[in-house]
Amino acid sequence: MNLCSPGTTQCGLFATYGPYVPACKLIIRRDIFQEPRLRQEQTICTAVECQGVGLHSGAPVSLRLLPAAAGSGIIFRRTDLDGFEIEAVSHNVARVSYATSLMKKGVLISTTEHLLSAFIGLGIDNAIVELDNLELPILDGSARPFVEMIHKAGIRRQRRPRTYLRIRRELELREASKFIAIYPANAYSVSYAINFPHPLIGRETFQVDLSDGNYLRQIAAARTFGFLHEADAMRQQGLIRGASTENAIVLTRDDLMNPPLRFEDEFVRHKVLDLIGDLALLGKQILGNVVADRAGHAMHTALVSRILKDKTLWEETTVEDLSRSTSPTTEQTAEKLGNAHPI
Ligand SMILES: [Zn+2]
Repeated sequence: MNLCSPGTTQCGLFATYGPYVPACKLIIRRDIFQEPRLRQEQTICTAVECQGVGLHSGAPVSLRLLPAAAGSGIIFRRTDLDGFEIEAVSHNVARVSYATSLMKKGVLISTTEHLLSAFIGLGIDNAIVELDNLELPILDGSARPFVEMIHKAGIRRQRRPRTYLRIRRELELREASKFIAIYPANAYSVSYAINFPHPLIGRETFQVDLSDGNYLRQIAAARTFGFLHEADAMRQQGLIRGASTENAIVLTRDDLMNPPLRFEDEFVRHKVLDLIGDLALLGKQILGNVVADRAGHAMHTALVSRILKDKTLWEETTVEDLSRSTSPTTEQTAEKLGNAHPI
């Protein structure tokens, strides 16, 4: 879907505007402050569904995405438990180890990060996510199938102005050799470093500015990964019961079981994907620069709760607020926003 040209936001028009990218960019630059898709919240046009298995539970699950009213955010709904709803927000975060799970009144929704990452990457603010089991389907191990579902549904602008969470002061968290921080910035960008003692990984770093369609091109297709020699121990802990070479990159001691990689540095790109999904639990699109070094789901979600606890770290802003200011920084921000989330 291309939301750059006026009047092209109807459902079902996605993926037909490839050749017009330069024109699309021209429109954005000419009309930064009038770009409605950045000013306003978005949802999907129609319901879409898929089936799969949970990565850790191995449980079969049907997943359905539905449009939601402006201001509602992302809401998970357990159709197998009388439609019990859990909002995708920080205070519902429960277990966080190899995946991020939400829990409310004892009801669990597990492995939420890849779908939430796709929602952020495509600029979806509001949606209902129905599932009939406790864990989201892992599909191919990346966010790409979710992106395709959202594209299939179409994206609809809503009337409500979108509120961004704009970082004003830095916050740094350390835990032994792990590090995560967020700094003020004029757009949403992520920088990640990992270090695994494996000949195909080692120290990998990746930096991405989540504008100009970079999420779709550079992040969405990166798959989760695991080490074959850890698989038995993890299964005994009740983990990765649904894992296979169809939904994860499987590493032997010195090679891959299921080549090829989609990117040479697919491992660190997947960490970026996870981080974006976990930070979605802030409940708003972010204007800030996130830096992570060997962090994981626990540190990602710790950053979210620390940010939300200290209201001096951030402010809420809309494109309208930004366009009222005349400072160069603000104009730059609006321009960055103008290039965000091409679909
Ligand atoms: Zn992941």
